[in-house]
Amino acid sequence: MEDTVLVVNCGSSSLKLALFDNRLQKQASALAERLGQDDAFARLGHEDTPLTLPPGASHSQALESLVEVFRERGLMSSAPVAVGHRVVHGGETFREAALIDDSVINAIENCAALAPLHNPVNLSGIRATLSQFPDVPQTAVFDTAFHQTLPKRAYLYAVPEAWYQDWGVRRYGFHGTSHAYIVLEAARLLDKTPATTSIISAHLGNGCSVTAIRDGISVDTSMGLTPLEGLVMGTRSGDVDPGLFDFLASKGMAADEVHRSLNQRGGLLGLSGQTNDMRTLCELADHGHEPSRNAIDVFCFRLARYIGAMMASVKELDGLVFTGGIGENSARIRQQTIDNLEIFGYKLSTDLNNHHGEYSDGRIESAESRYPVLVIPTNEELMIAREALQLAENTPNA
Ligand code: AMP
Repeated sequence: MEDTVLVVNCGSSSLKLALFDNRLQKQASALAERLGQDDAFARLGHEDTPLTLPPGASHSQALESLVEVFRERGLMSSAPVAVGHRVVHGGETFREAALIDDSVINAIENCAALAPLHNPVNLSGIRATLSQFPDVPQTAVFDTAFHQTLPKRAYLYAVPEAWYQDWGVRRYGFHGTSHAYIVLEAARLLDKTPATTSIISAHLGNGCSVTAIRDGISVDTSMGLTPLEGLVMGTRSGDVDPGLFDFLASKGMAADEVHRSLNQRGGLLGLSGQTNDMRTLCELADHGHEPSRNAIDVFCFRLARYIGAMMASVKELDGLVFTGGIGENSARIRQQTIDNLEIFGYKLSTDLNNHHGEYSDGRIESAESRYPVLVIPTNEELMIAREALQLAENTPNA
């Protein structure tokens, strides 16, 4: 049995695990859902039959049960050699992944004001794993870290400066682990080094963000203080006029209701009135459902506007990359977005686009396109496993 690396991704009522071997080949995955509720359950990989968890199972109980299942199935004979945790907000403290100790835990706690829905649950995953594997080096990998290279002009909001000084109000950016992986892959596919690669990376999943990467580092990104800013997403509105808050208050809407609406009832779901799922929206639009067509149009136009804006942040451009569930799978969304960007000289090959670039190293642009356009499947879990293994190997006594 080989050494393993465990990747832990904790949501408010869910726990995702991925198990890698020491050559970073994925061996297994598991997902526990509805934690804290009577009908908590888990699933291994793509197996249909759910695994039962104790009613009201906590993150810690779910972790224990799933590790036990990995052991029973012969996937894990002893403690992993490294554990990597996805942590949403690292504030300005973390510019890179960090080996977890008491001071790192305190710093993650201190960033919780910036991500009250995420950092505390990320910490509960860390605590559960530390108590299960007290002697294993554990690493926190932050969604924000890759964007700590943003220049001031890109991260400052034009608001009273004291808000930044006193409360940390600035743009942080998210999906950093995905964008960091994409630039490494883009460099490989374009036969360049990451440090000389400049791309615009569009991560389009349930959450969506675009990042300008110049010479391997993030120089602008569409998400801000929170993951609500920027593009139209599954249920998140993305950019709205800040005057909207005052207007809604005048209509009697409380701040927490506005927050909930913009985060959970906006985006594709809000516009279509039907679903946050892009695949379903495309089907509805094809059957003449006007609000679904509007949702797709607003999604693609906002995305094109942001890609256009990101052109101001790169001096040279080696390519535009689509990733995430929508970016990787929807030829239609890629085409409609690029159609809005003709002025910049982007042009797709219909054939390559329809085949996801699978026989051309991810490339989907036509011969006349001014810039390469690529489809690259993202792999945040692999990135976290890689960072965790690297830090564990550099740890004395590991
Ligand atoms: P993710 O959060 O990265 O898993 O992405 C989820 C989103 O990808 C959902 O909106 C899915 O509908 C969308 N998606 C997955 N496959 C397709 C597809 N073939 N066409 C359009 N959207 C897709």
